[in-house]
Amino acid sequence: MPFVHERPLVIPLFIPHLGCPHRCVFCDQRTITGSGGQLPTPDQIRAEVNRYLSFTHKHYSSIQISFFGGSFLGLDQAVTLQLLDIAADFVDRGVVDSLRFSTRPDTIRPDRLADIAPYPVKTVELGVQSMNDAVLAVCRRGHTATDTIAAATRLKDAGYQLGLQMMVGLPGDDDHGAMTTARQLVRLNPDFVRIYPTLVLSGSPLARMHRSGQYQPMDIDACIRLVARLYLLFKANDIPVVRMGLQASDGLADPGARLAGPYHPAFGHLVHGQIVLDAICRALADMKAFPHRLTIGTHPSMISRVQGLNKRNLHYLQKHHGFKKISIIQDENIKPDQLIVGDQSIYF
Ligand code: SF4
Repeated sequence: MPFVHERPLVIPLFIPHLGCPHRCVFCDQRTITGSGGQLPTPDQIRAEVNRYLSFTHKHYSSIQISFFGGSFLGLDQAVTLQLLDIAADFVDRGVVDSLRFSTRPDTIRPDRLADIAPYPVKTVELGVQSMNDAVLAVCRRGHTATDTIAAATRLKDAGYQLGLQMMVGLPGDDDHGAMTTARQLVRLNPDFVRIYPTLVLSGSPLARMHRSGQYQPMDIDACIRLVARLYLLFKANDIPVVRMGLQASDGLADPGARLAGPYHPAFGHLVHGQIVLDAICRALADMKAFPHRLTIGTHPSMISRVQGLNKRNLHYLQKHHGFKKISIIQDENIKPDQLIVGDQSIYF
């Protein structure tokens, strides 16, 4: 029997900064998507989907076409329907299972939901960013937390799979505010979330605020620690965090596109490594005496998280706790979220 990936294959179609009535202060979608800001033509969409399908030899649990990068239901109705018609044709032919898109909370209105009802849309992601109205206003989002609650409720009631995106390090926000936003997102019962650090992109209004000293981005280590706390909050509530940090797209890899902010191409890995390091440090705090040699037992799939990126966790433990030697023991019988630190078993 062939190996089947648990996750769906998502075929991304970018609609950069289209469908947005204004510009959020942190947004430079042309940089984020590496695209020129044009709506793809029907032929380009078909060619892109066929390109993905042609090199997809692996077997996925399902295949979705995804419109993202702008605000899908903020597009003109005729454009929305044309894009859905093109994508739905692949579903009708049985080569794609369903569709998904990202959109702003204030676009989830009854008339727009009626537009998409006849189409095989399975998943809708809302760009929430914050549940604090003061932060949303500073960011010029043009919607409120109440809009997000109404949108999430409508989507869940209509049976859509719901994804929520939040940001950390927004102007006017802090760690406490981000944790409060996360708790409010938990109450909306999403099927998954994404967490993005705020970056100062050169083409965004935030770049001007940064240059004038009005905005200072998060330090990357503080950002990693905050996102680790958010991840654990969502995990404790059985909500998968499917992404932490922006994709290392061509646009972001160009240093000229980013003026400042906590960007790292392996941001998610750094967060997972921090979570494991914090768990190890908690176990060490309970130890009565420190041996010179530390053994850490872990499930084989977790070894890179135990080591941390470039073995930064091991270097930290050697530097701050004085271990001369650290041995990592892989054991299939240890659970993926369990560690054996010395003779202590802990979960994270
Ligand atoms: S809604 Fe999204 S795509 Fe539109 S301006 Fe704001 S961040 Fe950019």
